Amino acid sequence: MSQHFETNSIRINPSKSNQKEHSSPIYLTSSFTFDSAEEARATFADEIEGNIYSRYANPNSSDLIEKVCAAEGTEDGIATASGMAAMFGSIASLLQQGDHVLAARSLFGSTHQLLTRVFPKWGITSTYGDISDYLNWEKLVQPNTKMLFIETPSNPGLEIIDLEWAGNFAKAHNLILVVDNCFATPYLQQPAKWGAHIVTHSATKYIDGQGRVLGGLILGTQELIKEVQFFTRHTGPAISPFNAWILSKSMETLGVRMDRHCSNALKVAEYFEGNSQLNAVKYPFLKSHPQYDLAVKQMSQGGGIITLDLKGGVERAQSFIDELKMISVTANLGDSRSIITHPASTTHSKLSEEERERVGISNGLIRLSVGLEHYEDIIADVERALDLSRK
Ligand SMILES: *Cc1c(COP(=O)(O)O)cnc(C)c1O
Repeated sequence: MSQHFETNSIRINPSKSNQKEHSSPIYLTSSFTFDSAEEARATFADEIEGNIYSRYANPNSSDLIEKVCAAEGTEDGIATASGMAAMFGSIASLLQQGDHVLAARSLFGSTHQLLTRVFPKWGITSTYGDISDYLNWEKLVQPNTKMLFIETPSNPGLEIIDLEWAGNFAKAHNLILVVDNCFATPYLQQPAKWGAHIVTHSATKYIDGQGRVLGGLILGTQELIKEVQFFTRHTGPAISPFNAWILSKSMETLGVRMDRHCSNALKVAEYFEGNSQLNAVKYPFLKSHPQYDLAVKQMSQGGGIITLDLKGGVERAQSFIDELKMISVTANLGDSRSIITHPASTTHSKLSEEERERVGISNGLIRLSVGLEHYEDIIADVERALDLSRK
């Protein structure tokens, strides 16, 4: 293994066959054969390594896991069919009835639904803490709190949580620290360095990076992943070999893609900062971001997402979107194509206006996932739509 992200993401290929192929093959097979009854017995008994059945593991998912583990600095992992299967699997496998999760309030919408609507059915409860108020978190820890679950930068508010603080807090209270690292990717930020025990991903976003397939990852210490693996093997959220192959190939270009996502996003953010049609432009690597120092401390670049807070609320945000010519209106992010979302009327419409305010989602807030098109074309599309939507 190299000490460089780029080399590992390209050169780790344990799934090579004996056909001397250069690019990894796709192993579209449900199961794997044994040379003898004894080999089958020993493989099932974990005495020898070997593939058994693609719900357990498959060479393509193993490729992906090994690459992302090298990038995150984690010991082991599991690839799942979607990001949400990874969020669900990491919580469900490590907790039991009566346990409590402490989570940062700014969470992906479906993760919020898991914590507030799904897990309570099985006696797993949760409390939200506000990241602007770290001192208060001590009071939120209960005798049955087992897990600290956070997302940084948050979606869509782009709030940054201090990973060093989270690592120390989890250690002091003996909590399993789970970090959803979807927005930053391991190229920009490695939560395990700061003490995260589990790192989760929606690989659907930047790891795929081209809006093609769903996928998720649960990565972490060997000890915890063993527990998670028992759960996923027997509950079945396995990724398809084809999707794992796509995502493993995508890892080869993650570094160069993220470099461009980040430089494009910074240029777009800088261009619109101070625009009279906007209340604010938010981007982790803009000096005006309230947690700029923290972002610079724990991320190598600012990521590919910016938010624009349009003057004129929901109505203005919607007419702005209708005036866009190039940028796609769709629910994904982290694609090579720039994508715009209006969280208040779509992804976060189930929250009350007050709940949205608490996580930084104003009525005029637009989330822009800055793609890989030339930044001048992205700027031109946004600028034109801002002008045309002005009343
Ligand atoms: C998209 C997303 C998820 C869910 O992932 P899917 O692959 O859509 O299931 C979880 N967390 C974050 C931060 C996301 O952006």
